[in-house]
Amino acid sequence: MPKNTISDILNNQHTGEVSNLQGWVRTFRSNRFIALNDGSCQSSIQCVVNFQDFSEDLLRRITTGSSISVNGEIVVSIGGGQSVEVKVNSIDILGDCPPDVYPIQPKRHSLEFLREKAHLRMRTSTFSAVMRIRHTAAFSVHDFFNQNGFFNLNTPIITASDAEGAGELFRVTTLPFDETPRKEDGTVDYNYDFFEKPTNLTVSGQLEGELGAMALGKIYTFGPTFRAENSNTTRHLSEFWMIEPEMAFHDLADNMDLAENLCKFMIKSVLEKSKDDLNILDTRLLNEEKSKPKDQRSELSLIEKLNFVLDNQFIRCSYTEAIEILMRSKPNKKGKFKFPITEWGVDLQSEHERYLVEKHFKSPVILFDYPVNIKAFYMRLNEDGKTVRAMDVLFPGIGEIAGGSQREERHDVLVKKMQDVGIDPEHLDWYLDSRKFGTCVHSGFGLGFERMVQFVTGMANIRDVIPFPRTPGNAEF
Ligand code: ATP
Ligand code: MN
Repeated sequence: MPKNTISDILNNQHTGEVSNLQGWVRTFRSNRFIALNDGSCQSSIQCVVNFQDFSEDLLRRITTGSSISVNGEIVVSIGGGQSVEVKVNSIDILGDCPPDVYPIQPKRHSLEFLREKAHLRMRTSTFSAVMRIRHTAAFSVHDFFNQNGFFNLNTPIITASDAEGAGELFRVTTLPFDETPRKEDGTVDYNYDFFEKPTNLTVSGQLEGELGAMALGKIYTFGPTFRAENSNTTRHLSEFWMIEPEMAFHDLADNMDLAENLCKFMIKSVLEKSKDDLNILDTRLLNEEKSKPKDQRSELSLIEKLNFVLDNQFIRCSYTEAIEILMRSKPNKKGKFKFPITEWGVDLQSEHERYLVEKHFKSPVILFDYPVNIKAFYMRLNEDGKTVRAMDVLFPGIGEIAGGSQREERHDVLVKKMQDVGIDPEHLDWYLDSRKFGTCVHSGFGLGFERMVQFVTGMANIRDVIPFPRTPGNAEF
């Protein structure tokens, strides 16, 4: 007998066929209607049971969460709500699910409750929708780059470079804590460590990615990234996935265009390929909005918001212009910002980014040409000597979704910038070699995958768009 997924049965003509279906029971009503879900799609299929044909003992074991195997005929449904249903011939209980202790009941659970049951929450319609959309989005990333002539490059997870600055690295070591080998001056003797030097989990694949771009032209990485920053926010994880393209012969304007195109491609893919899952999340968000005071409700539904982003060009605005806008803004004049904007040169906080995106421009914004002092050493110094060719892509409700730059390609300028911030050029001689041997204008950026999944799913907390979130104090499951 053919084994079919529910997705296959609902999307293709199978009426009249006898089929085998296996899945988990969502509900069992009136000893007659089983809503069976196998995770292949949002919809459950209705399995109609003639209870006289089955023993009471078996019927009692068909409970929410139990796994069953059903043989039956796919027939046109007489009831509303579904096009086809299964006329059940036989049922096997594969795995019982005791109802008195199973935490996922067919009712509304809070996201906080489900976060504590992360090992089971993917069985709910909300989380299965999020995870299927996450898949669609990830697939679209590879699709986009493949279609545009980029090569997928795997950069190391364990690295000895700490280019992004100290303080937020997870150390990787096999040294024993209780008897740490030490040198005469008391410092740790890393000669005894596995790699014979200090190593950590990567905070970015950029530096190695640049080397790939200087050989292959256009590359991208899409891998796990680790940051030990103690930011317990709704937008930070200690372990997240980052998409990092690097392109030779691309300047900042090309970089901005690519970031905009990638974002739009990902959103478009989800709109096209994850309709049912998006609808579920759209409705979820609508209900959530209803419980808010009227003036705080979003004007657009989730799907409208995604279409809005697709239909409009991202605004490009220089840091200097942004500072002028912020200085003149109402919240700044009325002292509503936690960090008031007083002068050119300060770093922008997420309250400022969100003001620009949500109140001023009402559109995604790409800010560029930031002050040299607040950005990383590898960014291309502008002719004014004060700003660098950096860019941040800001999204409504999210803030920064991607950050990047044109890279400093001039050997002497790069060495000087490293020295200015106290990085020993000798530690990164391999990186500097790319500027010694056939250097060229090149650019890249990093896009936080989970932040994009947050945007397309409308989930407010980043912990709800990754299967098993890692945050300070939490590495459960
Ligand atoms: P933020 O200012 O929001 O902390 P950042 O400027 O430190 O971010 P970058 O180093 O520019 O981040 O990293 C590139 C992208 O990776 C960011 O634009 C963001 O989308 C994502 N990102 C950075 N840190 C995190 C994190 N802790 N959790 C999830 N995504 C992150
Ligand atoms: Mn950034």
